[in-house]
This record gives sequence, structure tokens and C-alpha cells, in this order.
Amino acid sequence: MKVKDTNCMAVLVNKENWLHKDYQAKDLVTVKVNFVSDVLEMSQKMRKEAAGALEKLFSAAKRKKMLLYAVSGYRSYERQRELFKQNKKKDGEAANRYSARAGQSEHQTGLAMDVTCEAVDFELCEDFAGTKEYEWLRENAHRFGFVIRYPREKEEVTGYRFEPWHLRYVGKKIAKELYENELTLEEYGNK
Ligand SMILES: [Zn+2]
Repeated sequence: MKVKDTNCMAVLVNKENWLHKDYQAKDLVTVKVNFVSDVLEMSQKMRKEAAGALEKLFSAAKRKKMLLYAVSGYRSYERQRELFKQNKKKDGEAANRYSARAGQSEHQTGLAMDVTCEAVDFELCEDFAGTKEYEWLRENAHRFGFVIRYPREKEEVTGYRFEPWHLRYVGKKIAKELYENELTLEEYGNK
């Protein structure tokens, strides 16, 4: 079962399943967590349920002395279009391995957040996977309803290279199932 209902927390958005240009994520709220500096106000938003879950996740991490920082949450279709255009200018078609075209980004759903930590200078980079903060996320994100959406060695399935920083809210039940079976959202329901 692939979830195509765009209001559902487990909605599948990828290179084959596009969001309409006019799709507007509902109930966006500002997430009350630490952000890196200079984050657009719009990018500090997520859908309400996801925002609450991310706040709980950040607090739990903090109790374990893991200080996470949010970088980028909600993006409009237009904003994604601009970002992809910039990335494509730089890297050509290869940009699509790390950057989504407009309508194909989970950030448009308001259910994704990119996160980082001080040890990697607050960058979104693969080195984040070597930090204790990432290690904690890998083992605990599902307890709050999140998955590391683009895992290592699943590039063929997801269409994107490993992104240790990209968290996607899907709800606790599905997050647990994906975590325990090492599945991506693409593979969910296909086993
Ligand atoms: Zn992301």
C-alpha cells in the first residue's frame, strides 16, 4: 500500500509520486526547537503533528546531552523550484541525486526536517553520520515517529544518495515498522 493521500502522515513523495504545484501543506506551525542561524521563517515550520513530535525528539536528545539543530523544514513549491535551479546550475543533472525537483520534495509536505549538530559545524553533510547525535537519531528517531528517509545503500530505491540529516515524520507505528525491518517508505507495504 503506497500512501497517496497527501493529507496522510505517511504520504509517499518521490520522483514518481509528485505533489501538485498548488498543494499546500495544512496546519503548518513554527517548530519550537533550536535552529541554526539565518533560517527563513517559513523553513522553521512543519505540520502540527510533526512539529510536536520533533520537539519531543529534540528534548529527549538533549536529555542525553545530544544537542541537535534544525536547518530546514517546510518549503513551498516555488522555493523548491528555486533551490533545484541553483543546484542544477552547479552540478547539472547529477543535482537530482541530492536535490529534488519542485513537487518531488518531502519538504513541501511539511513533514520533513533537516538537522545537524556542532561537531560538523552545523552543516548538512555525510560526516554527520559519524557523530554521536546521528547515532542516537538512528536508534531513537522512530520512537517519535521519524525515519531517516534516505539511508545508506538505498539510493537505488529512494532515488537519493545517503542523507543522514533528513528526517521524515511518518507517525510512530509506521516509523517503528520501517525501522525494525530496515525498509524505506518506497518499500513499505511491498514486502
Ligand atoms: Zn531534507
